[in-house]
Amino acid sequence: MASPVAAQARKLLRDLALRPPLLAARSQAVQLTPRRWLNLQEYQSKKLMSDNGVKVQRFFVADSANEALEAAKRLNAKEIVLKAQILAGGRGKGVFSSGLKGGVHLTKDPQVVGQLAKQMIGYNLATKQTPKEGVKVNKVMVAEALDISRETYLAILMDRSCNGPVLVGSPQGGVDIEEVAASNPELIFKEEIDIIEGIKDSQAQRMAENLGFLGPLKNQAADQIKKLYNLFLKIDATQVEVNPFGETPEGQVVCFDAKINFDDNAEFRQKDIFAMDDKSENEPIENEAAKYDLKYIGLDGNIACFVNGAGLAMATCDIIFLNGGKPANFLDLGGGVKEAQVYQAFKLLTADPKVEAILVNIFGGIVNCAIIANGITKACRELELKVPLVVRLEGTNVHEAQNILSNSGLPITSAVDLEDAAKKSVASVAKK
Ligand code: GDP
Ligand code: MN
Repeated sequence: MASPVAAQARKLLRDLALRPPLLAARSQAVQLTPRRWLNLQEYQSKKLMSDNGVKVQRFFVADSANEALEAAKRLNAKEIVLKAQILAGGRGKGVFSSGLKGGVHLTKDPQVVGQLAKQMIGYNLATKQTPKEGVKVNKVMVAEALDISRETYLAILMDRSCNGPVLVGSPQGGVDIEEVAASNPELIFKEEIDIIEGIKDSQAQRMAENLGFLGPLKNQAADQIKKLYNLFLKIDATQVEVNPFGETPEGQVVCFDAKINFDDNAEFRQKDIFAMDDKSENEPIENEAAKYDLKYIGLDGNIACFVNGAGLAMATCDIIFLNGGKPANFLDLGGGVKEAQVYQAFKLLTADPKVEAILVNIFGGIVNCAIIANGITKACRELELKVPLVVRLEGTNVHEAQNILSNSGLPITSAVDLEDAAKKSVASVAKK
């Protein structure tokens, strides 16, 4: 089970990236943005881009080899590029479970598109950014290939350390930008943008120049950069990454790849975009949790953790480890809790057959402990809980909460603090 853990670790890192000091410590925080739920595939991002005047290649999307072949014929292009659609990057160098090498292929023959698509669709593609077993490919993009004379890197992101949007670019694109940042930091250029004033012509021009666009290409690149920035704002993105942001021998500046991340808090005003959300790559249980505004992370031990807040989640996992146990998962309740959510949370936690005990560790700041206690007793009764339950509540209304639990007649073990809770839950598992 090494690979799901790797994926979870990456998620944890993304959560941790919410912490400003960590972001500040990484001067090139290009890949590290706060955790967001909405993900779009490349073809969806490129549709948004082309609708907003950004230059992308003509393309079709296919979900079968036959459809890919038809799309390739329909494109009627000199050369075709076939690209597996998964949310992770590094596809070019990825490997399919069918044995096919490379998630991005160039060919002049539509028949070859069909043959390659057959070895892509329905198979897993593993890249540097996916779990080891890869991610299943359901769709491919069939696009008109263009010759590339130069590959640069361009991203626009909300950066906490700049308190606003920043343009990040490098004349050395196409490759892993973090490697460039490590080996040639002088080749990474930044432009902080005042969100009220917007992007200035001089900033777009300077970035175009730093990316190495010369002559008439400089104005064209600056124009694309401004359009990308305006799109970034319009769609409430937290990151727009184009790698490669390339030039063709014919003198065109083109976005050859696209990755957009979004601000979840903007869902209310970006309904069309959120409706496109591709959740097919999430674990089903994560999607189920997200429906109830809960965040679920699966781990490989046997003690389920029910907590509020990512920090408390990690502290809880740590203290379980320290006491010789292993967390099976954690479920983060967040703030503003309703009783029904507590019930759903228990349902999700107990659905995992690995779970041999549940540890509830809730700190009631905004959360009212009595609501949690009522949710717990209701869930225990209705779900006929079969595993030991250790509860540590602290904070708002904790006495009422303890009364609810102790008067419930249910076999709930209460704990006085986190340490006590960890010891009791580890012991309850060991007894079995
Ligand atoms: P990634 O590997 O997941 O980042 O996928 P990309 O879309 O960036 O494609 C990987 C590489 O394939 C790019 O860096 C380009 O070198 C190459 N590539 C992609 N599209 C084209 C194209 O239309 N023409 C040419 N010549 N190369 C392309
Ligand atoms: Mn790329």
